[in-house]
Amino acid sequence: MRDVARGWHADGASIGLVPTMGALHAGHMSLVERARRENDRVVVSVFVNPIQFGAGEDLGAYPRSPERDLSMLRAAGVDAIYKPSVADMYPAGASTRVIVHGVTERLEGAARPGHFEGVATVVTKLFAATSADRAYFGQKDAQQVAVVMRLAADLDIGVEIRVCPIVREADGLALSSRNAYLSPSERRAAVCLSRALGLAVEAYGRGERDPGRLRAILVEAIGAEPLAKLDYAEVVDPATFSTPGSLAVLAVRIGPTRLIDNHDLKLPYPG
Ligand code: AMP
Repeated sequence: MRDVARGWHADGASIGLVPTMGALHAGHMSLVERARRENDRVVVSVFVNPIQFGAGEDLGAYPRSPERDLSMLRAAGVDAIYKPSVADMYPAGASTRVIVHGVTERLEGAARPGHFEGVATVVTKLFAATSADRAYFGQKDAQQVAVVMRLAADLDIGVEIRVCPIVREADGLALSSRNAYLSPSERRAAVCLSRALGLAVEAYGRGERDPGRLRAILVEAIGAEPLAKLDYAEVVDPATFSTPGSLAVLAVRIGPTRLIDNHDLKLPYPG
């Protein structure tokens, strides 16, 4: 990968990177399309990164669709698919980890100990391997975006981080590879996340600014769905993930499946 990237840079071509864990959907492809528009060469990495999964999480069950991914990426005209093995990424003896403080401490970081250390480490390695000029991340994983921006700035990586809007199903559910886990009744229940965010946007639009009351709207909307169990609901600052702010963030369990969603309450709600 590094040799290919060096060749491209030697030819004066710019490189856009889209990191993914595969099981691609229209959310991923929106990142690929933007990267395609803004760079001479596009690399999509496909790597289910074991070190960002905690014990008892869904690493073994994580959806994989390698053939479908390949045909989607071919059709989208990407220049390279970087698909390292676990042994390529973490050979025996590998013992370096990238730790971002502060922004990783709450919410996803608290719910998933070690998760952001795994994300920060793999993203740093992907930046190094691909020499990317720009890297594309989805707003879907809002705290991940904040972590990646922090690390790229702090480590002087010189990669420009571009954030792409959340792609949703017609009923509002944010696209996610994990939606494949949902049974039909769970899939219907899962709309409670986007519905809750919509209600908070409405309240914000009516002038509600009290973080406690905005949070209560989210909590109540999730509570109204019998199949849903709230993990967290907060209204935070999008860069630091501390309160107060205008970014409403949610993590909800629908049966065994944990889903996240978010929306900046200052922005109009799609749909
Ligand atoms: P993943 O394969 O889940 O690690 O996701 C790879 C990238 O796609 C991440 O930057 C995600 O934030 C982004 N992504 C996932 N789902 C969506 C979505 N529904 N809309 C936009 N971006 C997404």
